[in-house]
Amino acid sequence: MKHSVSEQDFQKACASIPGGVNSPVRAFANVDCSPVFYDHAQGSHVWDVDGNEYVDFICSWGPMILGHRPAAVDAAVRAQLDKGVSYGAPCEAEIEMAQEICRIVPSAEKARMVSSGTEATMSAIRLARGFTGRPKFIKFEGNYHGHSDALLVSAGSGVATFGIPGTPGVTDGAVADTIVLPYNDLEAVEKAFQAQPDSIACVIVEPIAGNMGVVAPADGFLAGLRELCTRYGALLIFDEVISGFRAALGGAQERYGVLPDLCTFGKIIGGGFPVGCFAGRADVMSALAPEGPVYQAGTLSGNPVAMQAGLAQLRELQKPGVYERLEELGARLEAGLNEAIERTSTRACVNRVGSLCTLFFTDGPVRNWDDAAACDTQMFARYFRGMLDRGYLIAPSQFEALFLSVAHTEEEIDAFTTAVVDVLGDIAR
Ligand SMILES: *Cc1c(COP(=O)(O)O)cnc(C)c1O
Repeated sequence: MKHSVSEQDFQKACASIPGGVNSPVRAFANVDCSPVFYDHAQGSHVWDVDGNEYVDFICSWGPMILGHRPAAVDAAVRAQLDKGVSYGAPCEAEIEMAQEICRIVPSAEKARMVSSGTEATMSAIRLARGFTGRPKFIKFEGNYHGHSDALLVSAGSGVATFGIPGTPGVTDGAVADTIVLPYNDLEAVEKAFQAQPDSIACVIVEPIAGNMGVVAPADGFLAGLRELCTRYGALLIFDEVISGFRAALGGAQERYGVLPDLCTFGKIIGGGFPVGCFAGRADVMSALAPEGPVYQAGTLSGNPVAMQAGLAQLRELQKPGVYERLEELGARLEAGLNEAIERTSTRACVNRVGSLCTLFFTDGPVRNWDDAAACDTQMFARYFRGMLDRGYLIAPSQFEALFLSVAHTEEEIDAFTTAVVDVLGDIAR
């Protein structure tokens, strides 16, 4: 496979964009090659600027759950273009979006739209602090909640991939009230609450971790967090930016039957446009300005094009069979990967929740960040390059998920896992 145009583009990009990319996770630096520049996409396929075709297992990091260019979303966007692209004033699509979210998401009674997942989590933390009048919060190692200062400690995703130890530019003061604990360790959370029962405003958690690779919540972990938060008067925040509208229509909270006080969304909810949302208990959400005293704002929040795209996507997701289909495809992928591991005697294991799946290069099990960090990332890099050569785009990091869409087919999953057997076989030889 030839990548000469992508390579030239990357050289040009590096001259005017730091590192050549507008988000670090897009760089292929940790898999020892230069990134592919996309030209266009359709369904489960993308084409790069060299004319290579790939089956896409990144899906824009989650938003393209229907595949690329679903007809319903395209049509909704085109229709809105004729009516104006931004108003900075209320429009009816915003009401419809809030109503949809409150109907679909079990814990949502009111919702506020923002423009990214980062904004959603940052605002939810501020709201929790404002509502409870407490300064501190708990987050978990390897969970990623966007790049706002207080949340950028022991974060997953790009921070983990690039091994950035803390982040220059984030002051000690900004993270002084951030308590970081191991994922799936309820005892550690209980101890933290016992140590400072009156100062913890909230616990924020990825109810299904997706940014250290996929890690499911241990039995009782989410219910235990719920119980501790209630007991100590803290709020529970589920960061469902990945799991929302994916783990189930109503997200991880529906899948596991545990209700947070607040939850955050992004990715899927924008239908591919820059959108985020935080939602939850009416009494807590009502503390937001202009109803209450906690300030939060956004010039492009509730943007009409983004709302129409998101609404069209949410409507498609409510058609019968979507989540059964995603589960089937996920199960097929998991089985194929496990078979590939066995046939090639590779030291690896697979974690999967629904349509999110990670092949970890470690004996496993992987239950938290320490387990994930034990992976052989050199091995991952060789696997990544082998798959790229065979026409499969996967996230260029061990600490990310394979994202499935309803546009993927059984044949594509099977061809993918057959290619994994080839690649792992080549590496073993
Ligand atoms: C992607 C992600 C975010 C940040 O969303 P952006 O839109 O990239 O700012 C926050 N939380 C989780 C769980 C995510 O996966």
